[in-house]
Amino acid sequence: MATSSSTPAPTAHPLPSYLQAEHLGPWGIFLQQVDRVEPYLGNLARWVETLKRPKRILVVDVPIHLDDGRIAHFEGYRVQHNTSRGPGKGGVRFHQDVTLSEVMALSAWMSIKNAAVNVPYGGAKGGIRVDPKTLSRGELERMTRRYTSEIGIIIGPTKDIPAPDVNTNEQIMAWMMDTYSMNQGSTATGVVTGKPVDLGGSLGRREATGRGVFTVGAEAAKRIGLDVAKAAVAVQGFGNVGGIAGKLFAEAGARVVAVQDHGGAIYREAGLDVPSLLKHVAEKGTVAGFEHAEAMEADKFWDVPCDIMIPAALEQQITKANAHRIQARMVIEGANGPTTPEADDILHERNVLVLPDVIANAGGVTVSYFEWVQDFSSFFWDEDEINKRLVRVMQQAFAGVWQVAEQHKVSLRTATFIVACERILHTRELRGLYP
Ligand code: NAD
Repeated sequence: MATSSSTPAPTAHPLPSYLQAEHLGPWGIFLQQVDRVEPYLGNLARWVETLKRPKRILVVDVPIHLDDGRIAHFEGYRVQHNTSRGPGKGGVRFHQDVTLSEVMALSAWMSIKNAAVNVPYGGAKGGIRVDPKTLSRGELERMTRRYTSEIGIIIGPTKDIPAPDVNTNEQIMAWMMDTYSMNQGSTATGVVTGKPVDLGGSLGRREATGRGVFTVGAEAAKRIGLDVAKAAVAVQGFGNVGGIAGKLFAEAGARVVAVQDHGGAIYREAGLDVPSLLKHVAEKGTVAGFEHAEAMEADKFWDVPCDIMIPAALEQQITKANAHRIQARMVIEGANGPTTPEADDILHERNVLVLPDVIANAGGVTVSYFEWVQDFSSFFWDEDEINKRLVRVMQQAFAGVWQVAEQHKVSLRTATFIVACERILHTRELRGLYP
């Protein structure tokens, strides 16, 4: 029996308790974001429940022998939020605070991000609740390999393709690829992306997220009449994403006036020497102690006079406590989920343009897609070609989102969700339900 979009499905059940938002944790924030776009989805809204229920959740026990002979158990997760548009795709995070709710939300944001830049993937994410700094290299390898074996029943080059995220890197991807390949009996480079270049990785992948941040920032700046070459930029987090984005803004003539990281904050009104700062961070692990700048109290970072602010560290950094202090005209979310919903509303009211994570940091997954394509064809492109294609994808995606934001008079976050949810639910409708 057909169900019209206006009548509730006769079999509708409330979401099971573990899918409900008891408090506004990451999954609760995602559900709220979906509720905001539902009115714009027209007839596709009848499929919206699809987005509120991850397709598949796997929780695994990861036991390993520690170096001292004891046995330790870690909890691991892999969540495939949606695979309507293609295989699951998303990183693996090793962190002591990882929770199932967080991994569910991150997997859902991957569905949105992948659809927003129109790469043929669904969304997935994984993680282990562990502080990897407490493990030796051998313990880290054993944990990574056992986790890969445990989730091996649902990942694969055409099923779900992990990648690096917080505290995971090229080496961990190499161990994951090797473990999966050993279990399969043949080398399967396409099972993960973000691998070392010598093992089927892609040129340009390491810089891709920062390059994407810069590209959408430059596009948005043009539209609001902000001259990047004269802009003052403040960056939180000077690692892979923030460091590269800062470098590219500086190369475009902008002044990077302030940087904050886990070790402290620094300021120089005339602009920091970014190549020297990157060298300092590579040696010392933090921006703190950089001698060609003034040290600043970490919290003062949010008051710095600037045109562009780039949060590129952790979740929930811009909150109702500091959103009213931000002086920038534009916030580019390099990190995932750096702005809380209340802070988002405050910035919107204050006319600060927020370029949301689901489009702003999608450069990484875009080049991951290029890596996967190169692995399948065993034909590798040069870096110039990769960067050109990346810029084209980001510019096109951003132009589409901008147009939808203007059409519906909504924020860029809601516009990105509208574009992405329409794409996901359209493919859901085309595929229909099996059986
Ligand atoms: P990274 O480990 O290279 O850098 C993290 C940076 O954050 C470091 O400079 C660190 O000092 C800083 N930091 C950590 N704790 C902090 C604190 N309490 N206060 C201020 N700064 C702090 O990580 P990354 O790869 O640059 O990732 C940063 C963010 O970008 C994460 O949210 C990640 O999920 C997101 N992201 C990364 C990629 C990617 O390709 N690397 C892609 C999409 C999104």
